[in-house]
Amino acid sequence: MSYQPGRHFLQIPGPTNVPDRILRAIDNPTIDHRSADAAGLARFCLDGMKTVFKTRGEVVIFPASGTGAWEAALVNTLSPGDKAVAFDTGHFASLWSKMAANLGLEVDLIPGDWRRGVNLAALGARLEDDRQHEIKAVMVVHNETSTGVKNNIAAVRKAMDAAHHPALLLVDTISSLASMDYRHDEWGVDVTVAGSQKGLMLPPGLSFNAIGERAIAASKTSLLPKSYWRWDEMLEINRKGYFPYTPSTNLLYGLREALRMLLEDEGLDAVFERHDRHAEATRRAVAAWGLEVFALDPAGYSSSLTAVLLPAGSNEADLREVILRNFNMSLGSGLSKVAGKVFRIGHLGNFNDLMLAGTLCGVEMGLELAGVPHRKGGVSAALDYLTAQAVAVSGAHR
Ligand code: PLP
Repeated sequence: MSYQPGRHFLQIPGPTNVPDRILRAIDNPTIDHRSADAAGLARFCLDGMKTVFKTRGEVVIFPASGTGAWEAALVNTLSPGDKAVAFDTGHFASLWSKMAANLGLEVDLIPGDWRRGVNLAALGARLEDDRQHEIKAVMVVHNETSTGVKNNIAAVRKAMDAAHHPALLLVDTISSLASMDYRHDEWGVDVTVAGSQKGLMLPPGLSFNAIGERAIAASKTSLLPKSYWRWDEMLEINRKGYFPYTPSTNLLYGLREALRMLLEDEGLDAVFERHDRHAEATRRAVAAWGLEVFALDPAGYSSSLTAVLLPAGSNEADLREVILRNFNMSLGSGLSKVAGKVFRIGHLGNFNDLMLAGTLCGVEMGLELAGVPHRKGGVSAALDYLTAQAVAVSGAHR
């Protein structure tokens, strides 16, 4: 594409815009990963990530994309032939279940229509029927990035407890952590999986497991082959701030800066409130355009992205291409089952009201240019909401 001045709008639901502060932190000389400075950096990051996951348990950091941390969660806790329950709630949920099958697990994939969250009644029935406790894990994606549907993890835990079932609860928070409220310990999660390139505002390249006590216990007997992903060797050497192999030192500089921004400068509650507000403003724009939010249940609305269903006869790939060419903005594509039908607006990470306003302007102009049937006024509806929220916070019109 020819040169386009100004800043590219990266409004896919991750990777997200990396703040200049973080880019500058990454742009430090690489240090000796066996030095005392590196150990201090690693300990700061590991402790900070515990706060982000809301856990008193263990956290490990892999130099890998989120898919690596998916694999680590499975290979450290399970054995060949173990049964796992997963849910066909979207592209990423189905990819994770495919990985489990590739690794030699027997996956029971509970069907779904992708517009709603996990089927808790079906989960409860599966667990009640499993009197021999052959099911060893339940795998859930907290925020399905392909559909913009959030799952209620506390409710999943409740269904498992109601069935008195000992399966481990494994949760993917790759597009929710540090954007949407998440509580590893309080919600009784055994392993949480996360990645660096979304709410944590970093480039891709780091991924995480938060590990509860029951998962640590399971890792002592788990027989799936593992080496790079082994928790035991990682945890032992992490205690001193080191890694069993070369860590991504410069991404850890970036992570330290991200943790300062999230935990010290803004505060997690304010971060979540900001994401909720931008998601609501986006949904108001979608409604005013006369388009449909793909998620059907308001309790399942994602705060990190909004997936929008286009009317029959319009194609999301054409719309996104027009927007990229004319306005230098990338939006999320429709993935697998919803390709062509759904586009996704990412509003997570380092993001503010005016960035959202610019994003929605680009979408509204693109709808017009691409000939997608819609009404005007989406941007105005979003701005009215953002203005009212600002008035509510500052007390009065000034
Ligand atoms: N899970 C979810 C919910 C995701 O959104 C993604 C990527 O977007 C992944 C897993 C895969 O992560 P990665 O592409 O970093 O390997």
